[in-house]
Amino acid sequence: MIIDVHTHINNYHEEKVASLEDCLNNLEDNMAKNNVDYSLVLTSYKVNEHRPSTKRVVEAISNRKNLGVIAGISWLNYNYNDVIEIAEYLKKGLIKGLKFYPGYEPFYPNDSRLRLWYEMALEYDVPVMFHSGDTYAPTGKVKYSHPLHIDDLAVDYPNLKIVICHVGNPWIRDCMEMVYKNTNVYADISGLVLGNFSEKFEKYMKKEIEEMITYSGDPNYLLYGTDWPISNMNSYLKFIDQIELSDEKKELILWKNAAQLFKIDVENLK
Ligand SMILES: [Zn+2]
Repeated sequence: MIIDVHTHINNYHEEKVASLEDCLNNLEDNMAKNNVDYSLVLTSYKVNEHRPSTKRVVEAISNRKNLGVIAGISWLNYNYNDVIEIAEYLKKGLIKGLKFYPGYEPFYPNDSRLRLWYEMALEYDVPVMFHSGDTYAPTGKVKYSHPLHIDDLAVDYPNLKIVICHVGNPWIRDCMEMVYKNTNVYADISGLVLGNFSEKFEKYMKKEIEEMITYSGDPNYLLYGTDWPISNMNSYLKFIDQIELSDEKKELILWKNAAQLFKIDVENLK
């Protein structure tokens, strides 16, 4: 069983507009080729012709049982209708979490503007995910996406389940401390590479992830994710294969932690 907790259907090659159905078919083809059983699709904090709204994605995946939605939330741009819509989706179980984009937008995770969303996540017991580390765009401001800022939120909301995306890369050492210290903090390993891992980079990252597990203990906080289509699924699975870890512990990373955290009904996938 493999669960990918971090995929996108944004169209990053913006010279042509791909339809939402084409993007979803492409995702499912890639999953099938790589024996991935379930993926979470993360919507953006922006909506435009290349970045479909949460509403459109929720509707489009309604009959695809191997996909779930994490709603991207803007720190700056939302109105009361958005709040009502997300609350409805949470109530109906149509979204499995919320995603915030510090760095892409200039705010720290403990910003009081976001309390409303955190309280909602607590009420419906879904995780909140944070972009962390390097920004794909040079216009991002990375002081906001440093994983150390997760600590304030984790301490102030001890029951909130928090996911640091991309293990805070390149600040993996700081991410290590976050998951070690805070039992409510998790990390996904997505987006470590654009496209395929080179041999050299794979070696480097393997060491980083192994060090993280040495420091932070058994990987019951670590989640498999790719950031597809930014990273290649096949190359990512090969990377996981390289990590020195018992099969039992790899299973935690590949699906067991995710199934529990996001309440994914794995029986329904067989
Ligand atoms: Zn991503």
